[in-house]
Amino acid sequence: MDGTTTTAAPVLILLGPPGAGKGTQARMLEDKFGLVQLSTGDLLRAAVAAGTDAGKAAKAVMEAGDLVSDEIVIAILRDRLQEDDCAKGVILDGFPRTTVQAEALDTLLADMGQKINAAISLEVQDSEMVTRISGRFTCGSCGEGYHDTFKPTAKDGTCDKCGGTEMKRRADDNAETVAQRLEAYHAQTAPLITYYDEKGALKRLDAMGDIAAIANGLNTIVQAAIA
Ligand code: AMP
Repeated sequence: MDGTTTTAAPVLILLGPPGAGKGTQARMLEDKFGLVQLSTGDLLRAAVAAGTDAGKAAKAVMEAGDLVSDEIVIAILRDRLQEDDCAKGVILDGFPRTTVQAEALDTLLADMGQKINAAISLEVQDSEMVTRISGRFTCGSCGEGYHDTFKPTAKDGTCDKCGGTEMKRRADDNAETVAQRLEAYHAQTAPLITYYDEKGALKRLDAMGDIAAIANGLNTIVQAAIA
């Protein structure tokens, strides 16, 4: 028994290397399906900015492109998952990233009477990643993601979504750290593709195309997974 119920809110997982488009696509799914995007990267960056104990422990690890400890990440995710808005259903972006995290998620969801509807693997080539990551930036006010080449703002320096004018680039989006983040992905996260395949939850999506084409493919998968 996996503790599933038929009425539980949807739980979707986006798997894929850094730069695969998980954040961009999760935000689009959030708008389209009324789900909540849970990005452990965002939660950790917020903890770093707030100077919490977890944030202090995570800062140097994130700057080096390594994975933050399972203990810290699982605790942060568990707390967030129990907030009221998550009752609508969630899209996990950047979690789980290790087998220990995947097993902890199974337990957490079973305790909450929920189940994973689909784990969607965004499949891309490493060679594409540095280009994608090095051009990206976000709106400092609403968090909308952009890219110098693939998704520029309509008006230079102004967020299309909220009109904010303060744009941010991540400290770990540099070539050296990206290489380490890719290595961490292949060593520790890629095995989750098999983990979810063996559970019958895996869906694969070619994510080498443009943002709209990937969104179309993803919508079809999600629609079927939450039906
Ligand atoms: P992201 O925003 O998903 O690219 O994550 C940025 C960084 O936060 C990663 O390179 C890791 O250092 C850390 N991080 C985010 N999510 C996790 C996770 N699930 N497990 C461990 N570290 C994480």
